[in-house]
Amino acid sequence: MKQKRIAIFGSTGSIGKQTLEVISAHPELFVAEILTAHSNDSLLIEQALQFVPNIVVIGDVTKYANVKKALEGKPIKVFAGEEALEQVAGLDCYDFMMAGIVGFAGLKPTLTAVESGKAIGLANKETLVVAGDIVMRKAKEFKAAIIPVDSEHSAIFQCLVGEENNPIEKIILTASGGPFLGKKPNFLVNVKRDHALQHPNWAMGAKISIDSATLMNKGLEMIEAKWLFNLAPHQIKVVIHSQSIIHSMVQFEDGSIKAQMGLPDMKLPIQYAMAFPQRLKNQFPRYLFDKPNQLNFDEPDVKTFRNLSLATEALRRGGNTPCVLNAANEIAVYAFLRNRIGFLDMTELIEKTLEKIEYIANPTLEDYFETDGEARNFAASLIQL
Ligand code: NAD
Ligand code: MG
Repeated sequence: MKQKRIAIFGSTGSIGKQTLEVISAHPELFVAEILTAHSNDSLLIEQALQFVPNIVVIGDVTKYANVKKALEGKPIKVFAGEEALEQVAGLDCYDFMMAGIVGFAGLKPTLTAVESGKAIGLANKETLVVAGDIVMRKAKEFKAAIIPVDSEHSAIFQCLVGEENNPIEKIILTASGGPFLGKKPNFLVNVKRDHALQHPNWAMGAKISIDSATLMNKGLEMIEAKWLFNLAPHQIKVVIHSQSIIHSMVQFEDGSIKAQMGLPDMKLPIQYAMAFPQRLKNQFPRYLFDKPNQLNFDEPDVKTFRNLSLATEALRRGGNTPCVLNAANEIAVYAFLRNRIGFLDMTELIEKTLEKIEYIANPTLEDYFETDGEARNFAASLIQL
């Protein structure tokens, strides 16, 4: 395999840091070419000094001078701001983008990479939730390979290798259930951010950790799966599997089910996406069938975790509804993380925003940006952020 030049969008996040670990483990195969961060300038500087990329971008322009000064004398170009992020995504100097920005902010740079025909390891699921139809259409047009990094979608992608001519009957997305599995509303009403951030199986960024606690993460993943694998809503099933050893499954038309298994460690799907179609030898810990030694499956409690019902409805409705769902959820999570609203209020906020924003059946990209803005403003107005 020729050495791949990697652009990590969101290098200071959970996905970004683990992508750098994979690069460090295979320096002959991968080199960090571009690193970007939103506001964590000190970590970005540290990463830049260690990996000496060609380019770094700091989203927050007020931090530019600091980053520039710290990297003086190094062969590293420093840029700042949202526009720079998008421009850099279109450069020729890299081969593979790790899309590791969180939320709607990842959409523009990822779209630019798609339009530049890059290979993209897609962790940023919100990109497909918001504008999956446009992103997938453009990926086809510009021959950009989108390789899922989200562990469930990576699992499905891995199960589909060699099955190109065999239709999918359905996919089964596994969900850990998060830290509040089995809890009821009378418990959830009092839950605080620090407790909600404690995921039993995965260490992740704050937003996805809250999404996992509310099961919105699985709802977003249903929509992500629809676009990645071209599925109808009825072909997507969610099963609670609290051990997070089976990362997801595909059922084919003969009734056979393929599963992908392993310990919950994002470095595996990250490395798989970066090296695809190769599997690279590594020293990551293995699942040994002793701990845990039982695998369980359950139906999700959608009456308690209503975010999953709202997302399922958005998946069915299509149009700009998933975009509204995502925007309202980003505001809700933001407010919850700052102790402005309670755990159950998040669902109410999303529901009210879904009722308010006008439905568009076939949105353009501009419609998606407008919908996102309107939904954010409305959701924020409900809590006076
Ligand atoms: P994180 O919060 O740890 O990191 C987010 C990164 O995005 C940071 O580098 C930050 O600087 C950057 N960023 C944030 N806001 C930005 C903005 N407005 N403009 C530019 N950059 C911005 O998040 P994470 O857990 O690494 O998740 C990243 C994405 O990957 C999310 O979409 C998440 O759903 C998805 N994902 C994460 C995991 C995981 O294990 N962490 C697993 C599956 C999918
Ligand atoms: Mg996932």
